[in-house]
Amino acid sequence: MRPQEDTYMHKGLRKTLVDEVKRKGIRNEQVLSALLAIPRHFFLDSAFDKVAYEDRAFPIGEGQTISQPYTVAYQTELLDVHPYEKVLEIGTGSAYQASVLAEMKAQVYTIERQKKLFDQNKLFAYLRKYPNLKMFYGDGFEGLPTYAPFDKILVTAAAPRVPEKLLEQLKIGGYLVIPVDEGNLQRMLRLRKLPDNSFHEEKFDLFSFVPMLEGKQNHSNGI
Ligand code: SAH
Repeated sequence: MRPQEDTYMHKGLRKTLVDEVKRKGIRNEQVLSALLAIPRHFFLDSAFDKVAYEDRAFPIGEGQTISQPYTVAYQTELLDVHPYEKVLEIGTGSAYQASVLAEMKAQVYTIERQKKLFDQNKLFAYLRKYPNLKMFYGDGFEGLPTYAPFDKILVTAAAPRVPEKLLEQLKIGGYLVIPVDEGNLQRMLRLRKLPDNSFHEEKFDLFSFVPMLEGKQNHSNGI
């Protein structure tokens, strides 16, 4: 069961969470406002109601997780999102990160490879608030050629490498933010596409994501 009500208690806990994320170094006001606006407990089973505003990742079924708010804020800040930009996200998961992007008024396209999570999100009433959020069932390694090019692309699963097709689907001047495997963790990278179609790469901190897997999945994996 998903909670439906956003009480004063939830709003208070959210404010405390935003202060914590700020203390950890996130400065972008639009990112912080989006975190403050979105009822994260709606994205979790009601069993998580009391802890939904802790700065932690939680299970969402199918062996997947809702990302830690700090990680969501960190990636969104690196992406440097502006209203009306076309943003592609790989790994919809709980759709929390996608909602942050939509709250910031981007045109959001998000892809999930697990049919069950995709179907769940299609029925998730809160997301109807965002006509600028479009969800797709597919393999993120392929990107979304029909809607390309994108101003920004965000990968929210641990990538074994930088997928070539995502680089192709980026506009000149656009950013790809992607956590790429480095030992047991992932190095956050930001690649900017230059006018000669080459890329400028910047390296950031280490994070821990669930793996980015090839192909689509249409059944429960029993985890
Ligand atoms: N952005 C999510 C984080 C979810 S975890 C959130 O805010 O909750 C990463 C998600 O990426 C998982 O749901 C996983 O199924 C999905 N994923 C992994 N590989 C993928 C791929 N190749 N294409 C699309 N989604 C993928």
